[in-house]
Amino acid sequence: MATLDIRDLHVSVDTENGPREILKGVDLTVKQGETHAIMGPNGSGKSTLAYSIAGHPKYTITGGTVTLDGEDLLEMSVDERARAGLFLAMQYPVEVPGVTVSNFLRTAATAIRGEAPKLRTWVKEVKEAMAKLNMDPAFAERNVNEGFSGGEKKRHEILQLELLKPQFAVLDETDSGLDVDALRIVSEGVNRVREGGETGTLLITHYTRILRYIKPDFVHVFSDGKIVESGGPELADKLEEEGYAAYVKGGGTA
Ligand code: ADP
Ligand code: MG
Ligand code: MG
Repeated sequence: MATLDIRDLHVSVDTENGPREILKGVDLTVKQGETHAIMGPNGSGKSTLAYSIAGHPKYTITGGTVTLDGEDLLEMSVDERARAGLFLAMQYPVEVPGVTVSNFLRTAATAIRGEAPKLRTWVKEVKEAMAKLNMDPAFAERNVNEGFSGGEKKRHEILQLELLKPQFAVLDETDSGLDVDALRIVSEGVNRVREGGETGTLLITHYTRILRYIKPDFVHVFSDGKIVESGGPELADKLEEEGYAAYVKGGGTA
């Protein structure tokens, strides 16, 4: 089983006033098949962690390592990261004019599987995956992210996840902006992928709401650029009751 290993990761972001350190030594090991929730107050650096793993150019790694099965992830291009088995929900946030969802997914699957899926079986695969996510079949012929609502973007993410079955998935605020029904459908998709046992998931969220539907194996509290506490699912229950105040410097509410 593959392992995603983050060791003493330090990351700075380029701001108008120069570089600013956001991640201050993150340590985390995720094994294929495990689900880890990363929770923390706004501004604690959760998205920065996701972007750093994704290879976003705005974020500079100033120290530490990230390896996937022993391979240095930080040396890889974004495409290489995807081929190495990493799925990043924020990887394609932009509109892709003239590229339909169906073609986009087939290109992504080709890159990951090393050969193009046969068109007929592929169309069937996509149809089935979309049906499970309660998606209108016409969605497959829309251009990627063009005029997608928040909920459609999230479903498109989970559709990718289900079809690409990556070794590791980083889902940043997948629950934001979803109504209860959409949250349930999206969560069921994540759970189906999880039950396959092949995917390690990093579920990044501010709210405990999604954890009623997706039970993590491990919960980590993020504060001021690092993990300050780790535990099992019971830690999420504690956070739901007590919030993040105990973890924020000066005991402020976040
Ligand atoms: P979270 O996802 O936990 O809410 P972020 O990772 O988005 O936190 O942000 C952490 C901190 O880094 C915040 O103070 C934010 O303002 C700052 N930050 C993140 N990205 C940038 C950026 N591109 N430019 C300037 N500041 C940034
Ligand atoms: Mg963040
Ligand atoms: Mg964020």
